Amino acid sequence: MKLLLVLFSCSLLTAKCRPVSKISGRGSFNKLLLISFDGFRWDYDQDADTPNMDALVKEGVKAKYITPPMITMTSPSHFTTITGRWIEDHGVVHNMMFNSTSLLKLTHVATLKRSEWWDNGALPLWITAQNQGLKTASFFYPGGGVNYSGQAVDRSLLKPYNHPDDNETEWQNNIDTVMGWFTEEDFDFVTLYFGEPDNIGHKTGPDTQERVKIIEQIDRTIGYLRNAIQKHNLVHRLNVIITSDHGMTTIKKKPMVEEIQLSKYLNFLTLTHFDLLDYGGFGMIRPRKGKEQEVYDLLKNAHPNLTVYRKEEIPENFHLARNSRIQPIVVMGDLGFNLNSRLILYVNKGDHGFHNGEMDMKTIFRAFGPNFKKNFLSEPFDSINIYPLMCKLLGVSPAPNNGSLLYTEMMLVDGRTLRSYVYYTLIK
Ligand SMILES: [Zn+2]
Repeated sequence: MKLLLVLFSCSLLTAKCRPVSKISGRGSFNKLLLISFDGFRWDYDQDADTPNMDALVKEGVKAKYITPPMITMTSPSHFTTITGRWIEDHGVVHNMMFNSTSLLKLTHVATLKRSEWWDNGALPLWITAQNQGLKTASFFYPGGGVNYSGQAVDRSLLKPYNHPDDNETEWQNNIDTVMGWFTEEDFDFVTLYFGEPDNIGHKTGPDTQERVKIIEQIDRTIGYLRNAIQKHNLVHRLNVIITSDHGMTTIKKKPMVEEIQLSKYLNFLTLTHFDLLDYGGFGMIRPRKGKEQEVYDLLKNAHPNLTVYRKEEIPENFHLARNSRIQPIVVMGDLGFNLNSRLILYVNKGDHGFHNGEMDMKTIFRAFGPNFKKNFLSEPFDSINIYPLMCKLLGVSPAPNNGSLLYTEMMLVDGRTLRSYVYYTLIK
């Protein structure tokens, strides 16, 4: 006997949840601040002194951890959070923008200004909310600096090239700016991005004193945020979600392990047309015409910690293959094994991009504010489910998405009274 669960949720089916009048404010809907600390592994608070994050556990919601989408990289994962779409659907398949025909490659920072990399039909929440009358802003959040079908985010600040990521005073100033947007300019939804602890995680590795130090700086910043919310009288009007895009792991190097260097197994010059490698644990190769089988065969059993997929073999639960930007051959290293192409030049001591089932790739979810329960510990869930939660909090009718409220609605103070209908049907 099989149990078939059919879920109908008000927020997915109808626009009736939307507030009617703008003049009277937004009815019962509060403002929302989404904060991302890039590369905040799920357990980073466990060996650091984090009084403010500890207090938030009592004052709000903590998930044991959350699972980012495959690929565990900054732009793909952030865009899943803000669109509620799998990577194969939103099309931001890498941190680097590339074209495997023209061989163009752009760095992550350059990509942040290029609409053609982000605007593939999946609408981020900023735009959907704006189209329903809300005022939204992005402060350094990936994808916030471009146009979607010609429409820009109401206010967007882009991270300048070579911007220092770890300046605590600037972090506080950024929080003050965002508080001003909420109180003086009546913004409804703001996304705020911080580049740490990702940078330190790459530079020193995740299991270092430097990483502990930056977590304590983040915790002080969260304390500053809590005070700022009080100072600006936003305690009863603002919900806050703090999350991240992926975790971090220590890179395994010689002589401890045999590193993966793909040029040992295949001749790039004669067999490949394009590759995206030397970027953590995930890579793609476009073989020269007629060489796909040869490349696949050469890599298939080349290294015990290397997994090779033909595009059509990529597991369904990666939600990755159905996108034209995914190249014919996809390669993945086991946890800690970076994919080096021609030479091993890689200087990073920590990295990500590995399988999202690995605990080191899991990340954080915290939330507090008037609509969140207090002292609520949530079971783990996929980060894709943050999107419908944000829509619910803002009273926005969601764009088509792959997330579900099923995993998050119990965090809300009115979670049990949500107009959600669950039918159980027994099938023999
Ligand atoms: Zn990173």
